[in-house]
Amino acid sequence: MFLRSKGSEELIGRVKEISGQDPHLCMQCGTCGGNCTAREFMDFLPRQVVRMVQLGDARALRCRSIWICSTCLLCTVRCPRGIDVARMMEALRVINLRRGREALPVAKIPAGLLGQVPQMALVGGLRKLSA
Ligand code: SF4
Ligand code: SF4
Repeated sequence: MFLRSKGSEELIGRVKEISGQDPHLCMQCGTCGGNCTAREFMDFLPRQVVRMVQLGDARALRCRSIWICSTCLLCTVRCPRGIDVARMMEALRVINLRRGREALPVAKIPAGLLGQVPQMALVGGLRKLSA
């Protein structure tokens, strides 16, 4: 029998609660990764991220893929099990951000760059990557 730790159960529960998705519906077909527009920059394919969530594996929180995901929704519209993978990616980002783990701390952005980056890109980036 496979016993999950308390931390694993908590991760699965938090992702379910925030995303409204059930990772256990995933049958690991790989359609999401096959269609992912950002997969070449990811360390784990969306299918693998979902698998880690199924298992309550904390690497799902630490992987680069969740920050690289552009929320293009292709995985979501093509998943044969109706799983909104993009929402699960977002849930993993939200868990990190609520714990103060940011991918882009504002203080680390060079001041000179702030005036050059388009405001919409800056706001969008900070909403996704900063707490
Ligand atoms: S497309 Fe859906 S069922 Fe297939 S691996 Fe991705 S999340 Fe799982
Ligand atoms: S929403 Fe994210 S994970 Fe899904 S296809 Fe787009 S970039 Fe890939």
